[in-house]
Parts: sequence; structure tokens; C-alpha cells
Amino acid sequence: MRRFRIALILATAAALATALAAGPVQGASRKAGDTMTADELDRDGPRYSASGYDITRLSAAEQAERVAKLTPEQARITQRAGTEAAFCGTLLDNKKEGVYLCVVCGLPLFNSENKFDSGTGWPSFYAPYDPEHVGTRADRSHGMVRTEIFCTRCNAHLGHVFEDGPAPSGLRYCLNSEAMTFVEKGQPLPPESRPAEVENAYFAGGCFWGVEDVFAQIPGVLDAVSGYMGGHVDEPSYRDVCSGETGHAETVRVTFDPRRVGYRRLVEVFFKNHDPTTLNRQGPDVGTQYRSAIFAADEGQAAAARRIIRELTGAGAFGGRPIVTEVVEDGGAFWEAEAYHQDYHAQHGGSCRVNY
Ligand SMILES: [Zn+2]
Repeated sequence: MRRFRIALILATAAALATALAAGPVQGASRKAGDTMTADELDRDGPRYSASGYDITRLSAAEQAERVAKLTPEQARITQRAGTEAAFCGTLLDNKKEGVYLCVVCGLPLFNSENKFDSGTGWPSFYAPYDPEHVGTRADRSHGMVRTEIFCTRCNAHLGHVFEDGPAPSGLRYCLNSEAMTFVEKGQPLPPESRPAEVENAYFAGGCFWGVEDVFAQIPGVLDAVSGYMGGHVDEPSYRDVCSGETGHAETVRVTFDPRRVGYRRLVEVFFKNHDPTTLNRQGPDVGTQYRSAIFAADEGQAAAARRIIRELTGAGAFGGRPIVTEVVEDGGAFWEAEAYHQDYHAQHGGSCRVNY
């Protein structure tokens, strides 16, 4: 869960910074915790929103390709911060149920359920589809201080946000129709408008606090969760597992985007960050719950894991000591560990150094 939480913390901090930077013109600043700012979005590496979308900034080439497909009016508004005339936009009076997508990159920006009639002449919403999809930055053009809104994936200008909206947010996201396309509920969404297709991998390599911390730092990993796997009791507690009676290993479920990081890469990270040669032991932690194991989600993962173990063995890795890591194809259910075990290093400090 760590990555999402960090994103929220950053969003909150940046929102406060934006509010302060806006000075006395509080009406133009957004509320803390709402959205991402441009500075946050310039970080390297893949990024994912809480709703599971890949919101990594488009490359210059991808951007140019998409901009070339826009109409002159769409380009004027989204690429040069233009504004369409009031009461003229095609989506102003649209009352159908559905989702509003970025006209440039297809990212869902707003939902019909958050649309309201503001009487201003522009499509208005009181909340974005996902706070991480719509960024904000100060706009001091035309002698005013306003808060511009933009698509966090492609940087398209969308409009502005004002603090005179209805409950529950009190915000009014004021949009240009030309910056969006609408897809009615029940109609298929194009691939770029769907959440990332993710897969899960399961690794046991000693105390899960450290394993979770390592995988949470790998680009292309959306989430890493501590839990228990490979035992024969349902819903085990930490105490049950520590007794050694249930057969579970402390295991981390890694949710990853295979377009950004391959399963093989994750297995390599696993072997670089624990000792796979000590049976039922990692350093000072001794017991079967600390055993080294890969719980394969399917035959392909099992084959890949075994192949890498053969390669490491053939290369004389780990000083030639035998690798005792089990590759398990039917590890049974993954049981999430108690909340106090999640994000342990992130919350208590002492984050692990990742060998990547
Ligand atoms: Zn976009």
C-alpha cells in the first residue's frame, strides 16, 4: 500500500505549498489534498493513480503524435491554454451518464455523476474522476491569479478550478468541452482509457517488512502488501504463523504492470535482496515462516522462477552454496497480514537499501 500513501502525502504537502504560494488570493487556490502539482509529476519512473491508471508522463514523441491528431480548436485550447466561448461547448448541456476523457491522451478526467449546472456557460464538475488525474498550478495570466487544471498524463490544459462550487467539495472545476471527449456508460472505452492491466507475484524471503519495502521501491510496481501464504489454515494471525503450526511463510504480494517491469526482473530483485541459501532462516530470524519461497501465480511464473534458479546455480552465485528457495505452484490463498505489519519500514523509518 505504500506507494499510494506516499502519493497522497506528497499531494497534500504540495497542495499546501500551492495554497501558500498563491498568497492572499485564497479564492484561487485549491484545497489541501486535492490534486497533484506539476512539480510532482516531473519525477522519473512509471506512476500510477489510486484508481489503477498508468499516469506516467507521455514522452515527447508520444505527445507530438497525439497532438497531431487534434483539431485546430482542440490544439489551441489544450496546448496553448485557450478558452472556448461561454455557452458554446458541445458538452455543456450533456446530461448522459458516462465518463469524460482527456481529448489528447484518453485519461478519464471526470464522471457524469460529479457534473452540475453552474450557469457559467462551461461544463462544470465538483470533483475529478481521480484526484491524481487532474493537476493544478497557479495561472497569473490576464492580470488575475487563478488555478489552472491540466491532465497529469499529457499536460493538456483543461480549464480552471474555483472555490465556489457546491458541496461536498466546494470546488468548481470549469472545463472546456474541446479538451474532453465523452463516452456514454455501457460503451467500450479505448485501451488508453482503461486501468493498467496488472499481475501479481508472491515472494517469501524472511521478515516481510523488508521484502515489502524493497518491492515497493521498484519502478512498475503498483503495490506491495505483507501477508501469509503456503499454509493450511484460513485467515491466520501473525501469532498463528509465528507458532510454526500453520505452515505459512511471511509473503509479500507484489502487484506490477508487466508493460513496465517484467516478472523475471522481479525474481532477480528477490534474489538480490535476500539470502536464498539458508534453510528456514534469514539472518537472525529462524523458523519455517522465514523460509525462502516463490509462490507462482501460474505455470509461466513457475517456469521463469526455476529457470532463473538454474542460471544462478550454473553461474555459481552465492559462493556456490545451493539455493534452497522453493518454487510453489499451488501455494493456496494469500492472506493479508494485520494492518500494523503494512508499510512497516515506511512508517517506522529504517527503509531498506534496494539492490536493483
Ligand atoms: Zn491527457
